[in-house]
Amino acid sequence: MSEHDPACIFCKIVEGKIPSRKVFEDDEVLAFHDIHPWAPVHFLLVPKEHIPSLAQLDEGHAAMMGRMMTLAPRLALQEGCRPYPEGGFRVVINTGADGSQEVHHLHVHVFGGPRPWLKG
Ligand code: AMP
Ligand code: ZN
Repeated sequence: MSEHDPACIFCKIVEGKIPSRKVFEDDEVLAFHDIHPWAPVHFLLVPKEHIPSLAQLDEGHAAMMGRMMTLAPRLALQEGCRPYPEGGFRVVINTGADGSQEVHHLHVHVFGGPRPWLKG
């Protein structure tokens, strides 16, 4: 599988061809605000490599997934989520049609902030 898919909107964001409001970046992952937020805090974490969904993961992706999962709580606080347990956040990875996945580049949603939320 190639590193980037030229037709993929999140690959274009990773490559800087489409603008985003960046939350965090390192050599293997990027985090940016969702364009249609459901909650006061709503950002996405994506691998820089084009992986269509959680369904394509193998053992070689374990470190990258661990990186995204350990970044999620840190970035949630940075972006304004209140601390656990009074605050907290929700982490969602939609996968495939039955999982309501619209963009086929693996992404982790992080939702948080005071309720009510628009959705979720
Ligand atoms: P999903 O249904 O899990 O595939 O969610 C895709 C998410 O990507 C949705 O919440 C969209 O609002 C978000 N999204 C789509 N295009 C962009 C964009 N250009 N910048 C930021 N977020 C986007
Ligand atoms: Zn992609």
